[in-house]
Amino acid sequence: MIDLHFHSLYSDGTDTPEDLARMGDALGLAAMALTDHDTVDGLHRFLAMQDQVAPRLLAGTELSCTFLGRSLHVLGLLVDPHDATFQARLIELRGRRQDRNLRLVARLQELGFPITLERVQAEADSPLLSRVHVAAALVRLGVVTTPDEAFRRLIGDGCPGYVSRQELTPREAARWIREAGGVPIVAHPGRFAGRAFRWDEAMQDLRSQGMTGFESIYGEYGPEEEAYFRALAKRLGMLESGGSDYHGANKPGVPLGRGRRNIAVPDHFLSELESARARGDWN
Ligand code: AMP
Ligand code: MN
Ligand code: MN
Ligand code: MN
Repeated sequence: MIDLHFHSLYSDGTDTPEDLARMGDALGLAAMALTDHDTVDGLHRFLAMQDQVAPRLLAGTELSCTFLGRSLHVLGLLVDPHDATFQARLIELRGRRQDRNLRLVARLQELGFPITLERVQAEADSPLLSRVHVAAALVRLGVVTTPDEAFRRLIGDGCPGYVSRQELTPREAARWIREAGGVPIVAHPGRFAGRAFRWDEAMQDLRSQGMTGFESIYGEYGPEEEAYFRALAKRLGMLESGGSDYHGANKPGVPLGRGRRNIAVPDHFLSELESARARGDWN
């Protein structure tokens, strides 16, 4: 069993990279990839744990792009965390994120909420700020009672407090990941659109833009979604990936390795990703 999607406190999770490696070890995982949003900065600490734990520790990251006018997440699995071009590109993305954060706080102030960037920063253990931290600040200020309510009423996509940020195209995201030696994987397609969506056509479009595969097993899929996306991968001949999307205390009820409903991502997903990468025929 493996887990190729989870977050540390270097983005919007709450665990240290060392604790994540130890937790995967305790679970008996065969391999695990840390995939923080827009950063590879937690990876040196994570990868340095390799001599202390049994699971293979792998590099990853998660980028946001815009597809059909909505946000689509892309995992960069097996990227080289030392790649200087990739690091510079991630700095650019974090700049756009910080610009979005400033506008998001200003928008919430316009709506009458007493939030400040300092309040948001106080909820985070790293300089990278996410809407997760904005949601935590809104809870602490008593504006909402749960982070989920903050996303549903105020800061989720399409809500009154939502502000967009300049995101990559899927083509750019895939190219950046490939140029850093990684494999571009569409993250949780079931969160982008449900099974009624024209996924055959959309996923082939994403493949033509450089995506190698997608998450067919995911910590928040129901059994029907998992069956649907596993069948889609077989139909299209695309690679599969899987992970919990564990965020620690920032996403309760979604444990590492297991997700909401005790998923089991098979080891062969990783061997197939690695052989495709070694062959260089990622499409
Ligand atoms: P950002 O990347 O700053 O736009 O924040 C998006 C992050 O918010 C995602 O990566 C999720 O971790 C988190 N998120 C999205 N929707 C929800 C929700 N309904 N409840 C809690 N966290 C959420
Ligand atoms: Mn997240
Ligand atoms: Mn995501
Ligand atoms: Mn994620």
